[in-house]
Amino acid sequence: RLPTVAIIGRPNVGKSTLFNRLVGKKLALVDDQPGVTRDRREGDASLIGLDFRVIDTAGYEDEDAATLPGRMRVQTEAAVRQADVALFLIDARAGLVPLDEEIARWLRGSTTPIVLVANKAEGRAGEAGVYEAMALGLGDPVQLSAEHGEGMGDLFEALLPHL
Ligand code: GDP
Ligand code: MG
Repeated sequence: RLPTVAIIGRPNVGKSTLFNRLVGKKLALVDDQPGVTRDRREGDASLIGLDFRVIDTAGYEDEDAATLPGRMRVQTEAAVRQADVALFLIDARAGLVPLDEEIARWLRGSTTPIVLVANKAEGRAGEAGVYEAMALGLGDPVQLSAEHGEGMGDLFEALLPHL
């Protein structure tokens, strides 16, 4: 059985973009609309010769602020339980939002190792978000650009001890 990596985080942080890059095929729908990916996706991923199963969490049919967190929580916690390690993505350009902090609280009691990832970190627009992410109490974030493929070596190094 391949080790399993879950990609979690609020809508629009780039989970499906990272999933597609790791799987190498356009399996997950990627769109500018937050939360557009309706289904949870799984695929066989390869990162610099490291093979694993990857889960892209999504499945939000609406953006109703009142119901989204509860539904996200069920799906996020299920994926994290199933995984050997979880990649918790934040959007370095947008900075932290309250939902990121809420997800970090859900993860606090988890026994699955969590790797914090500051995505959209290409260029200088992500610098403030990277510093903000350090306040989550999940260690220094891996700085990544899923869209441009930057930081994949650092992601590899962060995953390696857990797979
Ligand atoms: P998800 O809702 O978390 O699955 O996010 P998506 O993968 O659908 O991406 C949401 C938006 O962020 C899309 O417009 C992506 O093109 C964009 N995006 C994803 N990764 C990056 C990145 O590394 N840099 C930038 N600038 N945009 C990104
Ligand atoms: Mg998605």
